[in-house]
Amino acid sequence: MNKVAIVTGAAKGIGRAIALRLAEDGMNIAINYRSNDVEANNLVDEINKLGVRAIAIKADISDFAQAEGLIKDTLKVFGRIDVIVNNAGVTKDSLLLRMTEESFDSVIEINLKGTFNCIKHVTPVMLKQKKGKIINISSVVGITGNAGQVNYSASKAGVIAMTKSLAKEVGSRGICVNAVAPGFIKTDMTAKLSLKAVEELSKAIALKRLGLPEDVAKAVSFLASDDSDYITGQVLCVDGGMVM
Ligand code: NAP
Repeated sequence: MNKVAIVTGAAKGIGRAIALRLAEDGMNIAINYRSNDVEANNLVDEINKLGVRAIAIKADISDFAQAEGLIKDTLKVFGRIDVIVNNAGVTKDSLLLRMTEESFDSVIEINLKGTFNCIKHVTPVMLKQKKGKIINISSVVGITGNAGQVNYSASKAGVIAMTKSLAKEVGSRGICVNAVAPGFIKTDMTAKLSLKAVEELSKAIALKRLGLPEDVAKAVSFLASDDSDYITGQVLCVDGGMVM
């Protein structure tokens, strides 16, 4: 029987690479997306060609009811949920003096509350199954902080604390909860950065290259597999040695 994984924000970037990798690992995939119908449906076709099943589910995970719908619809189609990767996330960067209340609230609503909404609805399903893997995508700036990202780094630090707290709550029931903290990965999110910012950030990377979405997907693949059954409450940095 194929395992079933949900990947949020999977139409592009890191989420897309994770969905493809878990499909290559033999899992059926529920691709969550917010706006990009075409990209999400293309990914469904690509994954179906790998010999597993994929569905696309449109839902804004910052909305409690829509997150519940995502979990229920996945369960209706596939009958079980073995893995969830809470990947959906946004940035709205600016220095604190210019940061609006709206840009603080919206980043927290999506990155932190969105992760809460998904774990809140998926955990009862995994408790019944007595097994499950919850993988939350944080960021190295949730550990180090970053100028211009008071909202984003707070949301990602919150995701780490949420990961550890839930890991303590559900460990006795066979559920592993871990976070992956990417460093500087080439996606649309980092394409917004200035050349100067890219140069500065690159200097701090021990491996002297930016990461690719596939680098993050490989780590997620491990945490989603049975090979990581004795690992929970951890933060795995995938950052080329940026933070150590
Ligand atoms: P990306 O290319 O901008 O993709 C983010 C995805 O999340 C998009 O598909 C987006 O959909 C989706 N999304 C945003 N808000 C959503 C919502 N409310 N409900 C459902 N989906 C939503 O970014 P990425 O670089 O792949 O980032 C993926 C994750 O890795 C994020 O959590 C990010 O914070 C984290 N991360 C990235 C880096 C990096 O260097 N790239 C570093 C550390 C951590 P729409 O297109 O419809 O908005």
